[in-house]
Amino acid sequence: MHFVALYIVVTVLVAMKITALNGNMQEGKIKFNTVFFSDKVPTDSKLEELKQWCKVFQKNGLTPEVEGNYTGNLSFRAGQGFVITASALKDKENLADDCFVFVKEYDPKTNTFYVEGKKKPSSESIMHQMIYDANKQAQAIFHGHIDVIVQNAEKLGLPLTGKEFASGTIGLAKEVLKILGDNKMIVLKNHGFVSLGKIMNEAGELALATLRDSEHLNITK
Ligand SMILES: [Zn+2]
Repeated sequence: MHFVALYIVVTVLVAMKITALNGNMQEGKIKFNTVFFSDKVPTDSKLEELKQWCKVFQKNGLTPEVEGNYTGNLSFRAGQGFVITASALKDKENLADDCFVFVKEYDPKTNTFYVEGKKKPSSESIMHQMIYDANKQAQAIFHGHIDVIVQNAEKLGLPLTGKEFASGTIGLAKEVLKILGDNKMIVLKNHGFVSLGKIMNEAGELALATLRDSEHLNITK
């Protein structure tokens, strides 16, 4: 009899632990629907370049872990859509091909992404989608999180969003569009930055140059 009771207690505890673990995953932050029209992994020739930039961002502390979520997302325009880092990637060094997702289409009416890949696209895909729609010149969009840039935005003369919105929301994406214009480096209030370019190197180098400028300001102040 005691063994039966113990078995039930253990089973319940294991179930609770599994629920708790799932609750901590990035998955919960996704604020859109995803429809997979194929599980094909992106084969774009630019994928290796994006992987390299993911590694550089990680090494420079631009894609840190914040409260258990792994932040930052990088994409390039591909065909009618874009290729972006998947959601819930533990870190962004040495990413395999299946850590990237091809976003083919976004339906704002149903807030649904139609994708090709094995994982869901980054939780901040709505922002990437809206920037690509608004700026046809943009071929690459890199989004990172680092306090030193966020805190020095005004001193560096970088455009800064006025209002804070939770990450991954349509509200945040719309707030970004308000200040985007032709700017290639913008800062999201108390959040992070977005750099973009006609090629990936432009977006990446711009982020690194801004990081160096921000750090220099902190040293000299
Ligand atoms: Zn973010």
